[in-house]
Amino acid sequence: MTFPIAAKKSVLISGGSIAGPATAFWLNKYGFKTTIVERWHELRPGGQSVDVNDYGMEAIQKMNLGKALKDRFTGEKGTTFTDKNNKAYMQLPIGYSGTQETEILRGDFADMLYQETKDETEWIFGDYITSVNEQEAAGMVEVEFNSGKKEVYDYLIIAEGARSWGRKAASLDQYVEYKPIGCYVAYFSIPFEESTPFRDQWHIVALPGRRCIYYRPDFKANTQRAGIMFFSNESKGYEKQSPEKQKAKIAEIFADGGENADRMIKYLDQSDDLYFEYLGQVHASKWSSDSGRVHLVGDAAWCGTPMIGMGCSLSIAGAYILAGEMAKHIDDPKLAAKGYEENWRPTVLEAQKLPPGIPHIMFQESEWGVKVFLNIMSVVGFIFGSRLVRAVGPIIEGIWKRLFPSLSANKLPVYDQYIIQDETVRK
Ligand SMILES: Cc1cc2nc3c(=O)[nH]c(=O)nc-3n(C[C@H](O)[C@H](O)[C@H](O)COP(=O)(O)OP(=O)(O)OC[C@H]3O[C@@H](n4cnc5c(N)ncnc54)[C@H](O)[C@@H]3O)c2cc1C
Repeated sequence: MTFPIAAKKSVLISGGSIAGPATAFWLNKYGFKTTIVERWHELRPGGQSVDVNDYGMEAIQKMNLGKALKDRFTGEKGTTFTDKNNKAYMQLPIGYSGTQETEILRGDFADMLYQETKDETEWIFGDYITSVNEQEAAGMVEVEFNSGKKEVYDYLIIAEGARSWGRKAASLDQYVEYKPIGCYVAYFSIPFEESTPFRDQWHIVALPGRRCIYYRPDFKANTQRAGIMFFSNESKGYEKQSPEKQKAKIAEIFADGGENADRMIKYLDQSDDLYFEYLGQVHASKWSSDSGRVHLVGDAAWCGTPMIGMGCSLSIAGAYILAGEMAKHIDDPKLAAKGYEENWRPTVLEAQKLPPGIPHIMFQESEWGVKVFLNIMSVVGFIFGSRLVRAVGPIIEGIWKRLFPSLSANKLPVYDQYIIQDETVRK
């Protein structure tokens, strides 16, 4: 049986972090001609560890990137919760805490996908789309860039993250509800200091005033990752300010945060990869335009926030399904949009559910509240750290898999038949 070749159908992908290049990776394999436009002047650095699991790992295996991913694991050894004075209340190893076996820096993940796509995809840095004109009858999308360039593509894919502007230009913002979850987050790199406590751990310091600081090892030569979070039931607009103002705000809010805050503030001015966001979930009732020529993917379509721990996995698996449906229905983009929804929305809806009490339980106003929270973490640590639980856990998992094989079976559809094996035909 032969399948229609998608060759020479052109696709513009806006956003070059995770979801964008993951979609390009697959579209290239099916014979589409892909271009990625990334607003940043280079591959965007920054961010802390993200982990890959479940359908995310299944997508990675399909991409044959298991080894490339493993080579980039940060090697973080576990998670430790402390108070301001570095008294540890909970210490758990990999797999029993926030630290998973598959921790990789977001920037390293983006770089891995860049390396995998750069030969076939045209990458444009430092530009962005300013208007989108979808011409359904002609079966094309006309796009204008900030640089003044105008181009026509067969498809447009928006992978610009939760605060996507292109989503608006493509008239898909009307289907999106942005639901704040009540906290600010910032990530940045600082120089590594030998004296760093819990230096191979994800070290989370709970502070009164509904704040926390954290440090994570990146196992790079001279750096480590710092981060902060603080509760705010509404946006104060900090996320729209310049990095200089954002740094000043972080220094002000954490001025009394003890030695861990002092270390972070000391280096804050030097950091050139600050990521500062007021966290919110993206709930979109529709991911594609009526014609099926414009699609949303990744955080632009379904951001769950780092609190669900699935952002990266959802992006690469969702990208796989979107590209697969586009190849499957190359002659009918509307059917592709339908297939994308049907195959992927149920997983997204499930994944977006925040665990009870998250994030608010982490943010305590008083010293006393922080103590209660840390003592709860200490009990959690005792239970999950106990030899009994750690011995019994894998046994229960094994029984579970035997009883319910469908729950642990592969979850992603198969699109192998649309891959063009002959690279010369593809290019
Ligand atoms: C710098 C950075 C650091 C992050 N750090 C973490 C972290 O530590 N932990 C975590 O869980 N998640 C982090 N995230 C979010 C995480 O990457 C996503 O949740 C997830 O991987 C989905 O990725 P995405 O590609 O859909 O969106 P994102 O990763 O948000 O990427 C969107 C990309 O689109 C680009 N872009 C934005 N607007 C435009 C535009 N108008 N035109 C063209 N390009 C545009 C951005 O520069 C970015 O490269 C970070 C994201 C970024 C951008």
